[in-house]
Amino acid sequence: MSGTPRTALTIAGSDSGGGAGIQADLRTFFACGVHGMTAITAVTVQNSLGVQGFTEIPADVVTAQIKSVAEDIGVHAAKTGMLASAEIIEAVAGTLDEVGIGRHAVTPFVVDPVAASMHGDALLRDEALEAIRTQLFPRATLITPNLDEVRLLTGVEVTDRESQRHAADALLEFGSQYVLVKGGHLYTDPQCVDLLSDGTQYIELPGHRHDTPHTHGGGDTLASAITAHLALELGVPDAVAEGKRFIERCVAESYPLGAGIGPVSPFW
Ligand code: PLP
Repeated sequence: MSGTPRTALTIAGSDSGGGAGIQADLRTFFACGVHGMTAITAVTVQNSLGVQGFTEIPADVVTAQIKSVAEDIGVHAAKTGMLASAEIIEAVAGTLDEVGIGRHAVTPFVVDPVAASMHGDALLRDEALEAIRTQLFPRATLITPNLDEVRLLTGVEVTDRESQRHAADALLEFGSQYVLVKGGHLYTDPQCVDLLSDGTQYIELPGHRHDTPHTHGGGDTLASAITAHLALELGVPDAVAEGKRFIERCVAESYPLGAGIGPVSPFW
């Protein structure tokens, strides 16, 4: 028998196709060597062709899952993915304060502001974006928007490195400690440069662009890998650098599945 491992909690939705959501988060936590726990917010009906529908879990059941694991097992870092509704977001925010998760508490907290799938299917009700901005960002150690989410959240259209910095500044206004503006969706750039900032410094993290359509679950996997490394007590810049190394290997090993878009793979 070995000792108790470090732990990470994902507050997110289930993907029945197994590519994204809590399924990706748990695989990633496992691959990064931390014990993964889940507070499930929604159950999606989903395959490689898209999201056919989803059902929300009642907000009190979401918060009960968080409290249950926090009070007994303990959480060394947490992240959010698909949160579905403003009601769930507001309930989660209050519970995080109660159990001591968030930038003003002891436990690091990563917010991946998931709004839609890569097929364009909505994963968040319209009024909920404002709740993410006002309820979760001020509590976040790090937020990890992609460029579509940046546009939705700030109205800033990122087209180059300068506008990426401008977007980082605009996002930090919402109160997170760090922001990672992911550059993967800037297809005119042959590199995938992610920009990390805390308002005092801008760290550019260049990466390789892999020529594959199979990137389902990539955002979830990156945020989970960063969360796992925060649980392992790395600081934010080091955890992000490790997360970036991890996701690059996952994209390089992505595989086709079904008739549509396959997932990134943490198996290599
Ligand atoms: N389904 C769930 C439950 C998710 O959490 C996410 C992303 O966070 C997705 C689907 C969409 O993943 P992708 O945009 O990589 O297809």
